[in-house]
Amino acid sequence: MKLGIIRCANKEATCGAISCLQAVKDRTGDLTGVKKVTLFGVLTCGGCPGKKIAIRARRMIQDEGVDKVCLADCISNQTDNCPWNNNILDSVESAIGKKRLIYLDRSKEEI
Ligand code: SF4
Repeated sequence: MKLGIIRCANKEATCGAISCLQAVKDRTGDLTGVKKVTLFGVLTCGGCPGKKIAIRARRMIQDEGVDKVCLADCISNQTDNCPWNNNILDSVESAIGKKRLIYLDRSKEEI
């Protein structure tokens, strides 16, 4: 599976996406049982209010051959800080389809 990750642009300066990458390595969440993962890369939403996220997700799928797009916790987690996360989830789902979206489980992380 070729995987792309999208995360919050506001957190780029302070987060190296290490916990997301570890969750991919550990095959957590929707990656449970997936044997081979090829990471396309980690992009950002493009900044508030996330208007570039749908087109970036679509380009990953259409132009880069990505199979699944993961929205990082900093976007998808309802208790985190993105005030637009519901709109973002809707727009990405409309752009690439629900079955192309996956989520990792970082709840068991030890850092
Ligand atoms: S729209 Fe949400 S995910 Fe994107 S930079 Fe702003 S707070 Fe972060």
